[in-house]
Amino acid sequence: MTMPILRTVKDLRAQIAAWRATGETIGLVPTMGALHEGHLSLVTLAKVRASRAVATLFVNPTQFGPNEDLSRYPRDEAGDAAKLAGAGCDALFAPGVDEVYPPGFSTTICVSGVSEPLDGAARPGHFAGVATVVAKLLIAAAPDIAVFGEKDYQQLQVIKRLVIDLALPVEIIAGPTRRAEDGLALSSRNAYLSEAERTAAPALHRALQAIAQTVMNGGQIEAAEAAAIHTLKSAGFGLIDYVEVRQAETLARLGPGPSDEPARVLAAAFLGRTRLIDNIAV
Ligand code: AMP
Repeated sequence: MTMPILRTVKDLRAQIAAWRATGETIGLVPTMGALHEGHLSLVTLAKVRASRAVATLFVNPTQFGPNEDLSRYPRDEAGDAAKLAGAGCDALFAPGVDEVYPPGFSTTICVSGVSEPLDGAARPGHFAGVATVVAKLLIAAAPDIAVFGEKDYQQLQVIKRLVIDLALPVEIIAGPTRRAEDGLALSSRNAYLSEAERTAAPALHRALQAIAQTVMNGGQIEAAEAAAIHTLKSAGFGLIDYVEVRQAETLARLGPGPSDEPARVLAAAFLGRTRLIDNIAV
């Protein structure tokens, strides 16, 4: 059977209701398209945990800043649909902008705290856009589970907080970051990189590994962060938004001295015009 592509919340709900009527469970995989193996691994995960996987494809304008890449964000719906069908996805919800944001749209969901540092500071309004669209998708599809990648680690923590705070009846599942052989995290934005930038890009993952190693050896965190920034500059990175070790759930700064708290190293930095993000567990 060909995978249905649904354009309206009404059609999405009708498809899901038909599956629910026969006792099936639903896993949702939100994406902005330009799909790669990382996205498809989330579909595979959804199919392990639910009998039907529904992917969404929506390049959400409200999570892009005025000087960001909304207009040049890579788009290939037909290619994405073929990849999803090949990965065993059961339906694609690909609404137009007016379906998600009807005329007069006035509601914004802001998750304070975890949304504020790191990408929240570097990209004002970004996580309000993310939280609002994800809340809409979760309410529209009412899935049993929804799968998000650890690649966007702060986004994952924001969504977990959103679901707890609004008591949304969905389990959030985290998918591990898929990487190229040289360590670069797969990303739709990697398509922007020139050949030379692509060669330099794995330095980001290596810098995170070096910091994690220092933290695990009980070394000085600030010195490790500073060394990583120096390494990235030498590797050809331009503006570095942050390279930081944070508490793994709240993303608050770690207290001074040794601690047993789970930690995460997160970074965002530009290679030319392309902003790369990555993170790893400590
Ligand atoms: P995006 O299309 O970039 O909004 O990403 C859609 C989903 O795929 C998000 O939950 C991302 O965290 C996830 N994702 C993106 N890149 C990867 C990757 N390399 N490995 C695993 N998940 C990813």
